[in-house]
Amino acid sequence: MIKQDEPTIEDISILENVLVAAVDKGCRECGNLIFTYQAGLSIEKESKLYLFSVDCACGAEYVEILDARYFDDNGNEEE
Ligand SMILES: [Zn+2]
Repeated sequence: MIKQDEPTIEDISILENVLVAAVDKGCRECGNLIFTYQAGLSIEKESKLYLFSVDCACGAEYVEILDARYFDDNGNEEE
C-alpha cells in the first residue's frame, strides 16, 4: 500500500473495525458502555494513526491509538 494524504476506503474500514472493538470494551476508567466518542485519523509523514477520543460521563477524557501504520522513506507501508 502506498501512503496517501487522504483517508482511503481501506483506512475507513480499518477504523470501523477497531472502533467496534473499542466501543465494546467500554470506558477504560469506569467500564460504562455508553459514552461519547470520536474517531479520527492522524496522517503524518511517516505514520497513520487511528485515534479514538472518549468523553465519558464519569469524567474520563482520553485519546487512544487503536491502530497505526508506519511508512518508510519511499512512502511504502512497513511490515
Ligand atoms: Zn467512564
